[in-house]
Amino acid sequence: MQIEDVLIIGAGPAGIAAGMQLKRYNLEPLLLEHTEIGGLLKNASLVENYPGFPGGIAGPALVKLFKRQVSDLSLRIHYQEVTKLDIKKGHYFLAETRKDVYYSRRVVVATGTQPRRFQDFEIPEALNRYIFYEIYPLLETSVKEIAIVGAGDAAFDYALSLAWRNKVKILNRSRDLKCLPLLWERTKAESQIEYRENTAITSIKSHPVSGMLLECTTPDGPVTLRADYLIGAIGREPQLDFLSEQVLELASELEDQGLLYFIGDVNNGIFRQTSISVGDGVRAAMQIYRKLKEIQP
Ligand SMILES: Cc1cc2nc3c(=O)[nH]c(=O)nc-3n(C[C@H](O)[C@H](O)[C@H](O)COP(=O)(O)OP(=O)(O)OC[C@H]3O[C@@H](n4cnc5c(N)ncnc54)[C@H](O)[C@@H]3O)c2cc1C
Repeated sequence: MQIEDVLIIGAGPAGIAAGMQLKRYNLEPLLLEHTEIGGLLKNASLVENYPGFPGGIAGPALVKLFKRQVSDLSLRIHYQEVTKLDIKKGHYFLAETRKDVYYSRRVVVATGTQPRRFQDFEIPEALNRYIFYEIYPLLETSVKEIAIVGAGDAAFDYALSLAWRNKVKILNRSRDLKCLPLLWERTKAESQIEYRENTAITSIKSHPVSGMLLECTTPDGPVTLRADYLIGAIGREPQLDFLSEQVLELASELEDQGLLYFIGDVNNGIFRQTSISVGDGVRAAMQIYRKLKEIQP
């Protein structure tokens, strides 16, 4: 049985930053990633607040650079989803995937967030494959009608990414706007984006010719909107559902002992930004190194 020194769960900006910094100490962390390197960032239309990129850089382009750096550094990554993280107290953690069990003395949880899913209406089985909560699978899509539900940064950012090849409707169920003013200004200037306030979906129907029909309430009475794809951007929650009850119970004790770390979006409430996640990752790696030096001076 191989016991890792450090296991990092999630290879988004936080997890890879932790991995890169650990490498600088000659440690060989193992990353477990459910999908691919880059996490949520691959959905961002233009990242303008990450230093080093005057004029900004598209999320997928920044992810491409991250991937190159991960590969140059030969960071070990296994592409598996952790379905359960448990602990054999006083010994090691057990990270279960559908295929394997990994053992580690320390674990860094960098699993980001999961989307809040639509709950106000039923989604017919046949339409499930047209419903998304991230847009990167649709980045190559063209000449489609896409409805996005939400009123925050993600909804408007998604619309800007998709509008140059598709027609996009943003549906806000109230009048409140929660996005950055600059995203609102850019959205208003984009002829392919229609913004509808006070528009709430009440039901979705599958139509043999029209495809997906969204029945909505509006101040002027009910309307039916057609869409090829529907995207939910209605909030996100920390991705922690794989933690066993025992790990949850012992979490703060394990954090104090320097055995368990929560970094990046999974731990940062509304402060979800790439640079913060990267900073968290570097800090966790430095803390781990200091702890290890205490044990083996
Ligand atoms: C549309 C949009 C635009 C954005 N624009 C900007 C911007 O301009 N500037 C900025 O700074 N930030 C931006 N962000 C935010 C930025 O993307 C996040 O803050 C950042 O990606 C968080 O990094 P993270 O590593 O903490 O989490 P994530 O990026 O969410 O990465 C978590 C990783 O963990 C993996 N994972 C989850 N659960 C498991 C599991 N059980 N087992 C294995 N792997 C797992 C996931 O697959 C994922 O790869 C934007 C986000 C969105 C959605």
